Amino acid sequence: MNPQNAGHPPDPGTELITEGYTPSAALARKVRQAHPTCVAPSCTVPSTACDLDHVVPWPLGPTSEGNLRPLCRRHHLLKTHLGHTLAVDPTGAAIWTTPTGHRYLRPFGGESRLIVVPARRRRGRTRAAEELSADAG
Ligand SMILES: [Zn+2]
Repeated sequence: MNPQNAGHPPDPGTELITEGYTPSAALARKVRQAHPTCVAPSCTVPSTACDLDHVVPWPLGPTSEGNLRPLCRRHHLLKTHLGHTLAVDPTGAAIWTTPTGHRYLRPFGGESRLIVVPARRRRGRTRAAEELSADAG
C-alpha cells in the first residue's frame, strides 16, 4: 500500500476491483490496511478479524475498495438482520444509521463521531394517535 493513500479514499482511476462476490487477496488486504478497525461506531475490532461487507450489496454494488468496509461479526449481524444501515459518502466516510435514526460518521480510516440525532417519527402514526398519547400523558 502506498502510505500516502492511508486515510484517504481510493482514487477512482486506480481503485482495485474484483469480478464476482469474493474480493481478491490483494483487494482484501488493501481494504483492511485502509480501515484498521470495524467501521461501526466506536468499534475497535481489528479489520483483520472482520468480514468485508459490501456497502451496496453485490451484485448491485461492485467488489471494490470503495464499496467494501470491514465489519466485525456483531456489527455485520446488526446490519444484516436488525435494521442498522451502512452507507459511504463521497469522501469515503462510513455513515452508520441505527433503527432509531441516530447517525454516526466515521471518516475514511478514522474515529467515529455522532453527526445527527433525529429520532424520526414512526411511519403511519397519525396526528390523532399523537394527540391521544399526549392526552394520556
Ligand atoms: Zn464492529
